[in-house]
Amino acid sequence: MSTLKYIAGYPQHVQDQVRALLDAGTLGQVLARRYGEGHAVRTDRQLYDYTQQIKERYLRSAQPLHKVIYDAKLQVLRHALGTHTAVSRVQGARLKASREIRIATVFRQAPAEFLRMIVVHELAHLKEGEHNKAFYQLCTHMAADYHQLEFDLRLYLTQLEQR
Ligand SMILES: [Zn+2]
Repeated sequence: MSTLKYIAGYPQHVQDQVRALLDAGTLGQVLARRYGEGHAVRTDRQLYDYTQQIKERYLRSAQPLHKVIYDAKLQVLRHALGTHTAVSRVQGARLKASREIRIATVFRQAPAEFLRMIVVHELAHLKEGEHNKAFYQLCTHMAADYHQLEFDLRLYLTQLEQR
């Protein structure tokens, strides 16, 4: 029996429940019922604007976003549900730190709520590098249902791979 890598960090009884849904072939339906709605954030420009809107609303004081793009080479799990790079550029005489956010292309087709979740995750990294308590507080500040969304995203990715 293969391990379900996206939910390997969750308690065994949770993994067993997911395994049962997978075996019954109903995980996809369960998710589709809850997350039926897609989104129209297709281009990198749209992704930047979408991310910037959430940042303006919740994280105004964080450093400016330099770039936000979809990246086909990103693997969601390996890069800890997205990636975040601090890029230092020399601008005139001073060194200016700017931030870029890369979002795995799987989110281009994913339900709207999962795009929102991953963008919130990456925005929180503007202030917190680690997945610590302060990090998750930022996430739930931007999306009150963050923990449920992250869990369901892991189910969604699990289900995509099993097809
Ligand atoms: Zn992260």
